Amino acid sequence: MNIQVIKGDITKLDVDAIVNAANSSLLGGGGVDGAIHRAAGKELLAECRLLGGCKTGEAKITKGYNLKAKYVIHTVGPVYHDREDDSVLLESCYKSSMALALENDIHSIAFPAISTGVYGYPKDKACKIAVKTIKEYDKYDIDVYFVCFDSETYGLYNDLI
Ligand code: ADP
Repeated sequence: MNIQVIKGDITKLDVDAIVNAANSSLLGGGGVDGAIHRAAGKELLAECRLLGGCKTGEAKITKGYNLKAKYVIHTVGPVYHDREDDSVLLESCYKSSMALALENDIHSIAFPAISTGVYGYPKDKACKIAVKTIKEYDKYDIDVYFVCFDSETYGLYNDLI
């Protein structure tokens, strides 16, 4: 496994899969979800409509349509409530996404900082969970990119890696 931290827009990346921090309807939203749907085009929403939503901590895969990425893995992060469950669910997002990546012969995957936008997860805590969980897959032949939209997140990931 190779892990890299990148600053920028996840929709522009040329990787096998990008991960979407979606909401449970999978029918689009703001933040990174809105950006991915805008960049992928209407066909992405049409495929998402067939999926019947997604539970918090789980993940579903679609094609990438107009994106360079072949796939989008949609996962639903927890809304932060400062409960023990939050970290379990956030960890589960990374695990569910990696499980789909391994099942679908994906060898490069880019993650946004799930739950750290509108869902309010403290960035430092969320980045720690992301890195710790992803490192459990270090035996696999996969490049993992942590994509940061802001300098704070970029700094946090770089300190951890
Ligand atoms: P959530 O609802 O899971 O909190 P958000 O989309 O609100 O999801 O935010 C998740 C993270 O994605 C935030 O750190 C936000 O800054 C970042 N983000 C927003 N747009 C993009 C983008 N185009 N590429 C990468 N990261 C993005």
